[in-house]
Amino acid sequence: MTDCIFCKIVKKEIPAREVYRDSEFVAFHDISPKAPVHIMVIPLKHLESLSGAENSDKEMLGKLLLTVKKIADDLGLSKTGYKLAANNGAGAGQLVFHLHFHILGGWKAKPHWEV
Ligand code: AMP
Ligand code: ZN
Repeated sequence: MTDCIFCKIVKKEIPAREVYRDSEFVAFHDISPKAPVHIMVIPLKHLESLSGAENSDKEMLGKLLLTVKKIADDLGLSKTGYKLAANNGAGAGQLVFHLHFHILGGWKAKPHWEV
């Protein structure tokens, strides 16, 4: 999709602080982090949201979750805990209509809701 900002990151037409890339997914730091570490994980294939997923996306969606786990492990987030979020639809706050998971973590001392 030509006007999709995440497709542009996939094609390296705009810069991103990438932390992971393979033949199906790319992960990069969110430009406006809502946690000490805030990573976006996206499929290279453009899909607007989870609502647009079909049975044929089953394998990709499974791999996407395992890729989230690998990235969280590699960045040390699994030790201290992390949240995984996907805003689905404008009513839920989705701003970029290219399927993505937010990994939010990196809190050191206390869980952020106790600070
Ligand atoms: P959502 O509200 O779930 O659609 O989240 C979109 C996220 O993409 C927001 O957290 C934005 O800060 C993030 N974002 C938008 N543009 C960029 C960009 N160029 N690089 C990295 N993150 C971005
Ligand atoms: Zn896209």
